[in-house]
Order: sequence, then C-alpha cells, then structure tokens
Amino acid sequence: MRDLPPLAQHIAHARRLDLDDVGAQVAEDLPAERTGDDLSQLEDAHARQGSLRHLNLHRNAFRDRTMLHSMVRRQADLVRDAEAVARGMDVTLVEVSPRDGLQNESVILSTDAKLDLIARLVAAGARRIEAVSFAHPQRVPAMADAEAVMNRLPRSDGVSYSGLVLNRRGLDRAVASGVDEVNVVVCVSDTFGHRNQNLSTQDAMRVAADVVEGARAHGIATTVTLATAFGCPFEGEVAVERVVELARESAASGVDELCLADTIGVGVPTQVRALTSEVRAAVGDGLALRFHFHNTRNTGIANVVTALQEGVMVFDTSAGGIGGCPFAPAATGNVPTDDVVYTLERMGIGTGIDLPALLPTAGFLAEQLGHEVPAMLPKAGIFP
Ligand code: ZN
Repeated sequence: MRDLPPLAQHIAHARRLDLDDVGAQVAEDLPAERTGDDLSQLEDAHARQGSLRHLNLHRNAFRDRTMLHSMVRRQADLVRDAEAVARGMDVTLVEVSPRDGLQNESVILSTDAKLDLIARLVAAGARRIEAVSFAHPQRVPAMADAEAVMNRLPRSDGVSYSGLVLNRRGLDRAVASGVDEVNVVVCVSDTFGHRNQNLSTQDAMRVAADVVEGARAHGIATTVTLATAFGCPFEGEVAVERVVELARESAASGVDELCLADTIGVGVPTQVRALTSEVRAAVGDGLALRFHFHNTRNTGIANVVTALQEGVMVFDTSAGGIGGCPFAPAATGNVPTDDVVYTLERMGIGTGIDLPALLPTAGFLAEQLGHEVPAMLPKAGIFP
C-alpha cells in the first residue's frame, strides 16, 4: 500500500471535527476531486484507528468542500469570460442626471442650467441621455419645462434623448417633443406603485404595454423600467419571482429593453446575479437588459461590476452621483457616472466617456445645487 499523502495522515489523526481547517486545507492541496483510490486509502487508515464514523463525516465534508470549491472556480471562470468579452467593447451608460438626478434634488434648475448640463454631458461623450420626464408638471415641478428643454437640446448625430413617460398622455407629449426613446416605469411593489403613480402594478403594466405599442408605432425606441425590483420602502423584500413575472409581461409587450431598477438603493451583488439569471432564463437573450442602481448604501459600484460580470452592458449613471432618494432623506443619489467610468476604464472596458472632460461637471452641479455632490472621483482625482 502506498504511503498516504500528508494531508490524509493529518486527517487520519484528527481527533475532533475541525472541519473548517481541514476543509480549507483540502481545497488548497487538492485542486481536483479526490480519487476513489485516495478515499479507500483514507478508509483503511481510519479503520486502523477505529474511527470510521469520523472518517465518514470527514469524507462527506471533503466531498462537499471540494465540490463547492470547484463550483466556485467554475463560476469564477464564467465571470472572467464575461469580463473578457466586455473588454474591447463599450459598455453603454445612460446618463440620467438631467432627469432622475435633478428630479430628486430640492433645488430646481433653470431650463438654461439644464441645457448647460446636457451640453457638458454630450461634450464628454454621453450618447444616451435621459433628458426629461413627461410626468404631470404639478406632480413633478422640477420637470415642468420638459418641452422647453427638448426644444433646445444640442441635436448631434449619435446622441439619443429619452423621456420618462408614465402614461399615454405623457407619450403624446414625448412624441410631440421629438424624443428618440421613451422609458416607461412599472413599480414591482403595489404599495410603491400606488404612492408613486397611483396605479397598481398590474394597471401600470397595462399602461406600459399601451405606451410601448404607441411609441413603436412612431418608431421610437422603448424601455420598460421595473422600479423597486430590489426592495420596497413600504413592503420590504421583493420576491425574485415577482420581478421575473413582470419581466415576462414586459417582454410580451414587444419592448426593446428591460431595465431593472434598485429605486431605493438596497440591492447587493448576489441579488444582481440572481435577478439577471432568472430574468434571462424567463425572457431569453433577445431582450436587452439594463440596470439602474442607486448608491444609497454604497453598494452601487459593486452591483454594476457584478451585473457586468453577468454580461449586462447597459447601465444608468448620473454625473456627480446627484439624485438623492425621496424615501431616504440623507441618501446619495444614482450611481455616479464619474466613479463608474473610472472603474470600468481601469478594468479595460470602454464607455465612450472622456473622464477629464466629464470631471468639471461635478463642480458645475455642486455650484448649481448648492451642495457637494456624492461622486468620489471628482474629489480624489483621476489615476494614473
Ligand atoms: Zn432612480
């Protein structure tokens, strides 16, 4: 009989179930699954020691551990694959500071200041910009000048302007204003939907399908955003199955793109991964996925990177990270364009945004809003 490998000796003489130490060592020393030969040797050794019961426990622990580690490795390989694919490609950032950003700030910017912001974003390379909301002006006063903004936008080739639309009336305004895309919101949580849009989720979905149909008839690109997909300030946890069901209904409407929004910034990477795979499994690869993260609890960048590793290539970001959250008064806003671009660039992934050109926008916004903006990069500076 061959000598037992050192590790097996160690295990054979183990007197207690220090499984964590043993398991960690096994994972380190044995990259592949243990062969049946090794196991039978272990069995002999343990039989000699009269501790077969311990052996079985240990052996099960090896198997579990080894299997677990090999699963982790396989997952890590997939993650690297997705990252490698993303390298050399441009991730698309939808710049939402003029809409989601400004809408959730207490200071209302003048039309001129909004146009100044948008011109800066275009000059920095932004190619998809959520410029306005066609919500009722009395309900969202910060967006009351939507038509005036749309009218005076810097129209240049390759820049697509989007308007948020809540219903058919909003769509009519959007069409008349000459938007390139519309984004229609359905709240996954009923309570949030009632408070935010005065609509149940199912009613909102019917409205969304109607808006999508109307927009498509005008050749306008469409996005359905599922708000509170990661959690609701009133109902708490949101079930993945509920998001998946709404994703299915969205896909059936013929929409071009589905955006999953962490409206209140409670999401974490494991949730991003679960939602991405479940939604993909339900709607297939034909429907483009986009994510909308808020950095309320500082998980935004981790969530972006995780979604990227899952193969998602479109993200909403906001210059300077402006936006806040109406349900978390002290919260920071959307995930900052500045910090996301920096992270992706350093990972070898392009965004089309010129960071040195974008950076002064944070100072401009701070001046306009009368407070410092949350983005970190404008404070720390570009590296190298
Ligand atoms: Zn938002």
